[in-house]
Order: sequence, then structure tokens, then C-alpha cells
Amino acid sequence: MEKRGGEAVEGVTVSNKQVILREYVSGFPREDDMEVVLRKEIKLEVPRGSSAVLVKNLYLSCDPYMRLLMSPTLPNSIFSSYAPCSPITGYGVAKVVDSGNPEFKVGDLVWGTTGWEEYSLVTDPQGLFKIEHTDVPLSYYTGILGTPGMTAYFGFYEVCSPKKGECVFVSAASGAVGQLVGQFAKLEGCYVVGSAGSKEKVDLLRSKFGFDDAFNYKEERNLDAALKRYFPQGIDIYFENVGGKMLDAVLLNMRTRGRIAVCGMVSQYNLDPPEGVTNLMNIVYGRVRIEGFAVFDYFDQYSKFLDFVVPHIREGKIVYIEDIAEGLENGPSALVGLFSGRNVGKQVVVVARE
Ligand code: NAP
Repeated sequence: MEKRGGEAVEGVTVSNKQVILREYVSGFPREDDMEVVLRKEIKLEVPRGSSAVLVKNLYLSCDPYMRLLMSPTLPNSIFSSYAPCSPITGYGVAKVVDSGNPEFKVGDLVWGTTGWEEYSLVTDPQGLFKIEHTDVPLSYYTGILGTPGMTAYFGFYEVCSPKKGECVFVSAASGAVGQLVGQFAKLEGCYVVGSAGSKEKVDLLRSKFGFDDAFNYKEERNLDAALKRYFPQGIDIYFENVGGKMLDAVLLNMRTRGRIAVCGMVSQYNLDPPEGVTNLMNIVYGRVRIEGFAVFDYFDQYSKFLDFVVPHIREGKIVYIEDIAEGLENGPSALVGLFSGRNVGKQVVVVARE
């Protein structure tokens, strides 16, 4: 194995640490459902004649949907399951080490779908975006400048169609997506309240992200009563991240012609079967529009999103909090921590810092 001056050099063979899924998961995922292994070597060269890209992974994104991929079957899913004993995959930030693709050259920084390993051969580079703005932290491309940012932006602006003065509720509000939805809602002149699972997170929502108010849903015995306290006139827009009991309570509090953007339902990902929702007739009474969406439907509008969000970051008008786990070894624990709310802000795993 050869690395010159700590740099990955095209053509040499190196060991490749990986995080593999041991077996399919049922119920809540545990750290030992995954294993960090060093059993593969990789040649830092794309196969001759292929249009693949060989990357060195720098930052990996922990996302709730990854739990869904740990199940053997995914009914009606837009994803496919992970294969046991293989490295798990997800979004990440990486540097190109070798390329058989004219769109990418050695040294380019990219973000997109990659493996949970030190080096990945990306056979379908269509899933990679070139990073142009490097005056912001590179890890942001797992969060505010990657899929969570686009999810918050397109989910809020396109699906919710916000108007000034409307009342917005965001669940999992301090997370990768939620913290941005709240800030976008404030930019639009909305009244916004968030729910989160600890006092620290509630304090952040109020003091750092500028939410008008926030509450700890774990301390509320009656979610309907809590929502009535914060939204005496009702909710115009609900940005749904958690599902289950929260959704049921929200349905009792929607205003006429309110909108619910269904981004995800993290409270349900470990339950089989999922919980039922009982207050569905309120959709009819209130003529409420409920719409699910998937961020990858908006990937072709990435540059429009960047044009909006990058100046806001530079001018300090939008802030972003990350929770950084150092080293691939700490990846499994960081990933499972999403399901107990251990992360404060966007959960990132650092594989290497360039
Ligand atoms: P995140 O909020 O950074 O992390 C997950 C958070 O969910 C945890 O920190 C925890 O916060 C909360 N949580 C975990 N279990 C819960 C439970 N049983 N009940 C209530 N809250 C629970 O995650 P994210 O990346 O921003 O994702 C938020 C949602 O967006 C997820 O549903 C995800 O699947 C979805 N998403 C959808 C798309 C799309 O294209 N539609 C794209 C990205 C993400 P607390 O401490 O507050 O409980």
C-alpha cells in the first residue's frame, strides 16, 4: 500500500475500512447490527474503459431513511434494501481520486450517494453533484447544502405554499431538516412553533433558530392540549417529520384549507406494524391538503436552491447546527442515535478531513 504525503494516489492499492450491515434489523436498530471491518483492499483506479468514479469519502450523512433500508422488504418503497455483509450506503461528501467519467476529474469535491467506507467506486456518477462553493464547511453538503437542505426548502416552499402571517408547526424541529424549515418560515413572516425531544433542543429552537416558540413533546401528556396552547387559532401548515401520535393530534388542530407536507414519519420506522391514525375525518371537515414528497424529485433544481441558500448562509441569515461524530468506527452509534434523539442538529460522521 502506498500513500504519498497522506494523499490518496491514483493507481495504488490501499486497505478499505467499511461499515457493513450484519443482518436485517427488526425493531430499533442497535450499534451491533453493523460492524466496522477491514477486510477489503481497493485499487485506487477505475476499471479501464468504465465511466465510474473512485472517491475518497470525507463526510457521511446519518439519515433516518437508512433504517428502512435495513429491513428485508420495503413495501411500495422507492428504495431497495441493503444487502447483509455489504457496506451500507448513504449520502456523503467525497474527493475524486480517479475518474473514467469526463464530468469529473481527479481532485474534484463531490457530494451524493456513496458507501460507508474509506474509498468507494461509484459506478453510477449520475448520483454525484460537483461542489462549487468551498467557502462554507464541506460537511454542510451532508446537511444544509445537501438533501436535508433541499428537503426543507422544496418541502416548505413548493408543498406548503406558505403565506405571510400563517401559523406553521414543525416536528423533529431541531434536526437536520426541521431547523431549516423553521428558519425559512420566519423568513416568510410566518409564526412558527417547533417540537423536539429535550430541553436543550427546545432552547436551541427559541434562541438559535428563531422559532417563535417550542415545546418538548416528551413532557406533554396531551399533545392535542399542547398544540391548542401554542396555536389557539389552529395550524395553517404542518411540516410532518414524525407521524404517529403527533400527526393524530395535529389533525385535531388544522385550520380550514391547511396544508400538511409529509416529509417523513421517523416515529414509525422501527414499528411493525406502524401505529394507526384515527382523526382522519378532520381532513374532510377542514378541507386539509396532505401531500407526501421525496427530495430526489427536486434534484434537477439543485442550482436554484443553492442560489437561494448560499447567500443566506454567507450573510448569517440562516444558521445550521451539526453534531459531528469522529471516525468511521463511530458511524454505527451515530446512526442509531437518531432514533433516540441523541443527535443535536444534523448528524455527520467524519471519515477523513481531505
Ligand atoms: P433528524 O431530525 O436530524 O434526526 C431524527 C430526529 O427524529 C431525532 O433527533 C429525534 O429528535 C426525532 N425522533 C426520533 N425518534 C422519534 C420518535 N419516536 N418520535 C418523535 N421524534 C423522534 O432527522 P432529519 O434528517 O431531519 O429527518 C427528519 C424527517 O425527514 C425524517 O422523518 C426523515 O425520514 C425525513 N426526510 C424525508 C425526506 C424526503 O425526501 N421526504 C428527506 C430527508 C428526510 P427529538 O429529540 O426531537 O425526538
